[in-house]
Amino acid sequence: MKGSCPIRAGAETRPDALALTFAGRHWTYAEMDTEVGRWVAALRARGVGPGDRVGVLSANHAVLAHLFFALGRVGAVLAPFNARLTPVELRPLVEDVAPRLLLALEPLQARLPDAEPLESFADAVGGPSSECAALDDTSPRVILFTSGTTGRPKGAVITEGNFRASARCSAANLGEHPAPRWLGTLPLFHVGGLAMLTRTAYDGGCLVLRERFAVDDTNRALDAEGITHASFVATTLEQVLEARGDRPVPASFRYSLIGGGPVPAPLLARARAAGLGPLQTYGLTEACSQVATERPDEADGLTAGRALPGLEVRVVGPSGEPLEVGAEGDIEVRGPTVMAGYLNRPEATREALRDGWLRTKDVGRLDARGRLTVLSRRTDLILRGGENIYPAEVEKVLADHPAVREVAVVGVPDARWGEVPVAFVVVRAGSGLPEELGTWCRGSLAGFKVPARFLAIDALPRNALGKVERTVLRERARGA
Ligand code: AMP
Ligand code: MG
Ligand code: MG
Repeated sequence: MKGSCPIRAGAETRPDALALTFAGRHWTYAEMDTEVGRWVAALRARGVGPGDRVGVLSANHAVLAHLFFALGRVGAVLAPFNARLTPVELRPLVEDVAPRLLLALEPLQARLPDAEPLESFADAVGGPSSECAALDDTSPRVILFTSGTTGRPKGAVITEGNFRASARCSAANLGEHPAPRWLGTLPLFHVGGLAMLTRTAYDGGCLVLRERFAVDDTNRALDAEGITHASFVATTLEQVLEARGDRPVPASFRYSLIGGGPVPAPLLARARAAGLGPLQTYGLTEACSQVATERPDEADGLTAGRALPGLEVRVVGPSGEPLEVGAEGDIEVRGPTVMAGYLNRPEATREALRDGWLRTKDVGRLDARGRLTVLSRRTDLILRGGENIYPAEVEKVLADHPAVREVAVVGVPDARWGEVPVAFVVVRAGSGLPEELGTWCRGSLAGFKVPARFLAIDALPRNALGKVERTVLRERARGA
């Protein structure tokens, strides 16, 4: 299938509607179309064409959105690198991508010395190009490096068809909105940010793009910028609610998607009371973001919801056989949002994609209504003497302790049990690490799930999206 650039489509049908706002500037669809055309001209002037890859090191910025749509119009591929990476971490990724052109936001350029400045890339050209090639659904559009827990990051190849399908499936779940305004605080170098950018464009809505998540800025935007949709991970949602106090969000706000990791049900209940219309969602880079999301009319925060309309989710056993309702096993996804494969990794691609099913490496179960509970990443699961321990379950119990602000539980090697859970605890201001945490756990958890050790930590290490970096904690627990 072929389709056209959603910005061009918007410029034709609703030229005066806002498409993007960033740092006090805004672009209507007509203006965005012209601006993207300037970037097309600049890319063409540099000889960038179909299939070429462009590597970019950038925080969220309007120019990254312009570049993204321009690359689609010439049939080229965007490879956005995580803006937090060091030169040493970037080098192998750049080699993997073998970019025709390398760009970096000026403040980040020291980390990618070969890169040209991104901000001014389109300045040299005169007029915009009207070129807007039809986008082939199967053409690579973006390469997104997933951190993974071990080994070198793999570049997931996401197509235009993946983005288009993701937007369609998401809209089928959330329902139509005449003028959606998404608050864009997720990074555009992550699938969450990019799916938001494309979804908004396909829906003819406006992306209120921010450089990064900042709690007061988010609350100001929710209160005063007519935001209708937003997306959070548990920790950013917690911060937003904490800072808001009892102040409800304006009634024009519709839904927020909450995912990226385990989401405690009580947190979702608080978000619901605040008017944030929280919907738990489960997704991953390799499936172009959302896979399952709660239906607005049945959201209770207890599961990650059902597969989006148009996608299939199943839970399989060790030999790939689908399991019955309620059984725990490996989560697999099939449908038009599943990636084409991993860049330069035929072996890893064959392992991840079998008969159209994406093996997510996550463990979960489905209920009779098809709602998915995500229990853990396969690699985060702790195996203590043959028993499975899901870190999220132990973390939930510990988080309920009044002195505990944040907690993460990881497995560490143990001579007797193979592996034992260790808890990293951030205590509330003024509290010491409570003596009774073990007893507290035993009040609600089977003995084998109780952490062997409790370690105080000032703050949990988190990645650019706000997810806990468990690899770092595992290393630390070994050293402690
Ligand atoms: P990424 O590809 O970096 O976006 O990470 C995707 C991973 O985040 C998934 O494979 C899951 O391990 C985790 N994840 C996403 N959503 C949820 C959720 N609702 N509950 C638990 N884990 C989640
Ligand atoms: Mg990740
Ligand atoms: Mg992953």
